[in-house]
Amino acid sequence: MFKTAIAGSLPKPAWLAETEKLWPQWKSQGPELLQAKADATLLWIKAQEDAGLDVIGDGEQARQHFVHGFVEHVEGIDFENKVTMGIRNNRYDALVPQVVAPLRLKGRVHAFEAQLTRAHTKKKIKFTLPGPMTIVDTVADRFYGDKVKMAMAFAELLNEEALALQADGVDIIQFDEPAFNVYMDEAADWGVAALERAAQGLTCTTAVHICYGYGIEANNNWKKTLGNEWRQYEKVFPALAKSSIDQVSLECMHSHVPMELMKLLEGKDVMVGVIDVANPEIETPEEIADTIGRALQFVPKNHLIACTNCGLAPMSREVALKKLQALADGAKLAWERHGA
Ligand code: ZN
Repeated sequence: MFKTAIAGSLPKPAWLAETEKLWPQWKSQGPELLQAKADATLLWIKAQEDAGLDVIGDGEQARQHFVHGFVEHVEGIDFENKVTMGIRNNRYDALVPQVVAPLRLKGRVHAFEAQLTRAHTKKKIKFTLPGPMTIVDTVADRFYGDKVKMAMAFAELLNEEALALQADGVDIIQFDEPAFNVYMDEAADWGVAALERAAQGLTCTTAVHICYGYGIEANNNWKKTLGNEWRQYEKVFPALAKSSIDQVSLECMHSHVPMELMKLLEGKDVMVGVIDVANPEIETPEEIADTIGRALQFVPKNHLIACTNCGLAPMSREVALKKLQALADGAKLAWERHGA
């Protein structure tokens, strides 16, 4: 069968946090919040297993946002005095913390949810971390004065946590690098090197997720400016093909990415996005199997993993549940068509 996995995030239940928001406020505090995070994580493990997915994630239920969930645990960052900064090449403004001193981890970042996930499923588990280049693009630098230097500093910390996650029993560690699609030359120039630094010494499977962002308005408007053919991947894939990273997650469903660009990832496992995260309409198994069929022209069968385009965090729980099922059903149909 084609393996199935999600990119990373899933919606937070209404009793955990505000719903359908990218930066939601928590609904409780202290031990009560920790329990709510654990409950939500268990709920999504069950939902992924029920849908029949092969690789299980924590749905990022224990972090407010995929970047700041990590950064909050880093010393040398002023979270009290956030500033507004244009991110992703000024696509939209975000309230970001400031780097004000040398960076150091305060302790473990994701031990709680990683160990919880490991304890509650026998399937392979994937854990996501933000990539160094994307972190650098989501914090304000008042200390390093040099993007690459700061990215390498973050990469060292990511590596520390990644090695600990591997020891927790995580099978796949994925770094999320949407910034690779925005700063393509820099991504090839130093972004991939920073990524490899973050993955240094890992013996588990390593992955990178590169997308065109969550289905929020600013991203949807940006996509309209990119023309009929989105060739951003063309610049970074050759550098990734040469890298030590095992898997690449990319967006494909309802996307203007030319499929043939997947050829540039020869030798890698390709997580093909077959679930649109910007549209609440549920994909049919036929539509998903068609997309997988077209991807198979460029990716060998044993290297293809069916995945979502990006995280499902800002969607409704009901839609996300149906999309998980569609993913599994579509991959099954694709195998019936193309597996033999
Ligand atoms: Zn994404």
